Amino acid sequence: MNLPFAIVPIDLLIGIASVSDELANRKIYYAVKEQVRSSLVSSFHLSGSVERTSRFLTDFFSASGIGGVRLIHLDVENHRAILMMENNPIAAAFEGRAQKPVDHLYRGVFAGVFSHLFRLDVDCVEHQCTAVNHRNCEFILKPVHEFDFAREEPREQLDLE
Ligand SMILES: [Zn+2]
Repeated sequence: MNLPFAIVPIDLLIGIASVSDELANRKIYYAVKEQVRSSLVSSFHLSGSVERTSRFLTDFFSASGIGGVRLIHLDVENHRAILMMENNPIAAAFEGRAQKPVDHLYRGVFAGVFSHLFRLDVDCVEHQCTAVNHRNCEFILKPVHEFDFAREEPREQLDLE
């Protein structure tokens, strides 16, 4: 695996997460998603079932110090997944102070990973976030048209094309 790594202080990621502008956060999300989908996931040379590879990747993310990532729902046939993140140090830095979920970088990572694994474009909405006083962060993944855009979260976090 030829994948250069940089060790980045969490404090730097907190700075990025402090951006509260919705448009800017959507841009961060789509840029990260595209990079992960088209480049980063391929570096892992994954093979095997979606179940197995998605569990490997959640273990990998957990081991990299971004918090404990658990796959709590996976429906390969319908291209849906739900991830839970515990002890997320970025969101914890905002605990009780943020009005909206802050983990747009992780939304982009997860959307890129699952778009690659499902071989179909899926998007990610952060439904709960420690930054707004939820116990854990919860990320919902599915095709964009299956999100309910009458609701505030998908409208703020995604572009409906
Ligand atoms: Zn969060």
